[in-house]
Amino acid sequence: MCDQVISDDFNLEFIPKFREYGINYVGGGSYQVIDFCPWCGKKLSSSLREVWFEVLDRIGLEPEDDIPLEMQSEAWWVNDKYKIDKLYLNIGV
Ligand SMILES: [Zn+2]
Repeated sequence: MCDQVISDDFNLEFIPKFREYGINYVGGGSYQVIDFCPWCGKKLSSSLREVWFEVLDRIGLEPEDDIPLEMQSEAWWVNDKYKIDKLYLNIGV
């Protein structure tokens, strides 16, 4: 990913908790997930969205519950607190 891409000048953003890159729709409220950098074509890190929900399920929470702080940022996958590798295997990623 080109470093200059993530800035207020573009409607592109990185969502830390999902490790996901997206382009915002005009008007906001939603975004289109992208797998490749629109500028240089480089493959971006794979989204952890499914794993995020899997982890939530494992710790007995629903998305509308109070989500632990580390699950609201990149902390949960950076620190591998929930043993992400095993989760990957279980959901066939
Ligand atoms: Zn790039």
